[in-house]
Amino acid sequence: MKIKILLLAVFIVSVSCKQEETDWIDRTKHEGLTNIALSDNFETYATEAEPKNLANTINNLELAKAYFDKVFDEDLNFAVLFIDNQNWDTYAFAPPPGMPQSYFEGNIVLGLNKSIIASGFEQALSQMPPQATQELKTHFGEPIDLDKFFRDGLALHELAHLYQFYRTGKNWERRWLNELFGNLCQVAASKNFEDQSTFNQMDSYQNLVIRNNQWGELKYKTLEEFEINYFDVMKTGRNYGWYQTKFYTMSKALYSKYGDSFVAKFRNFLIKLKNPEKLDDTALNELMTKEFGQEVMSIIKWDY
Ligand SMILES: [Zn+2]
Repeated sequence: MKIKILLLAVFIVSVSCKQEETDWIDRTKHEGLTNIALSDNFETYATEAEPKNLANTINNLELAKAYFDKVFDEDLNFAVLFIDNQNWDTYAFAPPPGMPQSYFEGNIVLGLNKSIIASGFEQALSQMPPQATQELKTHFGEPIDLDKFFRDGLALHELAHLYQFYRTGKNWERRWLNELFGNLCQVAASKNFEDQSTFNQMDSYQNLVIRNNQWGELKYKTLEEFEINYFDVMKTGRNYGWYQTKFYTMSKALYSKYGDSFVAKFRNFLIKLKNPEKLDDTALNELMTKEFGQEVMSIIKWDY
């Protein structure tokens, strides 16, 4: 009898320890949302009880989780919050509605239904000559639904941030390194899907934006400005988009050259760096050169 009780006690202790370790999700963010339980592999909440059109987003997140768990040797628990335009500011930390984001403690926020951000960029597409959007239509179908990019595609990017924050918390080194990592993971995960439509949608849209080069006057262009004025850059979607396309292009080059092992190596580097007192640029540059070598440094050289 005594042994049984002891065993039970050991079992309870081990269960509660594991719980503490995996349950890093900030549940205060779920107040007022419905648990829609759309996946067995992670938690899902929404501003409505029976949201439509989420099958592809959920499928992408399940595939991405399987890929990230494998390359990073984790079994990450996380929650996805699907938020409609009206409730965006209550649950997300930055406008516009539908711009995907991740919190430090286990939650990502994605748009629900037709998001404001997708509508805005669809509007811009509709003003382009038909031949400019021809390639896009082969990957998105018609009419072009940019929530496939902002929600289904960028969900991979946001999830990648969680795989970093789970190990670094708020002690990340540079915002631009976080964003380069997000882009690298979004390319890597989607390249590993059997169905390449997510990668093709992402890639054709980024390519169109890059080709069109309609950025106008940009207020910020250096990595230093990206660090200092991050929220200001984010608010000016155009300027944020410009930075993101640079990170995206670098990520494609890095992934095609070094593959999955580089993705894991990059994350390990970010974890190793985690430091509440940030390094200066020279020290960071030296560390990165030592870790990755000159070839990688030339790919990520910021020369704009
Ligand atoms: Zn990001």
